[in-house]
Amino acid sequence: MTLSPTGIMSDLDRVLIDADAIRRRVTALAAQVAADFAGQTITVVAIMDGGLFFVADLLREIDLPVRLHTLSASSYHGGTQTSGELRLNWPAALDLAGHHVLLLDDILDTGLTLAAVQEKIRAQQPAALRTGVLLGKKRKRLREAAAEYVGFEIEDEFVVGYGMDYQGRFRNLPCIGILRLPS
Ligand code: 5GP
Ligand code: MG
Repeated sequence: MTLSPTGIMSDLDRVLIDADAIRRRVTALAAQVAADFAGQTITVVAIMDGGLFFVADLLREIDLPVRLHTLSASSYHGGTQTSGELRLNWPAALDLAGHHVLLLDDILDTGLTLAAVQEKIRAQQPAALRTGVLLGKKRKRLREAAAEYVGFEIEDEFVVGYGMDYQGRFRNLPCIGILRLPS
């Protein structure tokens, strides 16, 4: 596919979720999270890079003490289909024993990423583990991964924007959109 050198909006087929709708939903999710973790310090484990904007916006709306750990996970390696092979960089010093953990990611798709990370977190015996994603795709999961907080349920389409990329681009779109891809 040839991407235009300027004007990233022009590569979109359509906008799926606009910036205002994202903002409203993230605010509502933050209120839910704050109520569920009331009285606790939240230890956030945030999966990068796709979760960057979601995590930044969500956490700034939560009026509770927060610790933030980021880890990178990738399974797409450049395409629009998961490769099924997960690369994870787990910080060696990360110790979550007894912590109230909030795991955050951009999308719950096949479930492979979140199931693997949840398993590693549980092995450290946190006091609590809840998971939040901005988007949940309506599709068959290859692995079950529960998420207590889901921003939007979407169809099984490849999306970009608000942190999510296609070949490294489009993360800085303020909305979430569908790319114009050759069929
Ligand atoms: P899973 O392991 O659940 O299949 O995939 C989760 C990861 O795949 C997400 O964190 C995200 O990085 C990536 N992913 C899944 N669907 C999409 C999509 O539609 N667009 C983009 N840009 N990334 C996606
Ligand atoms: Mg990801």
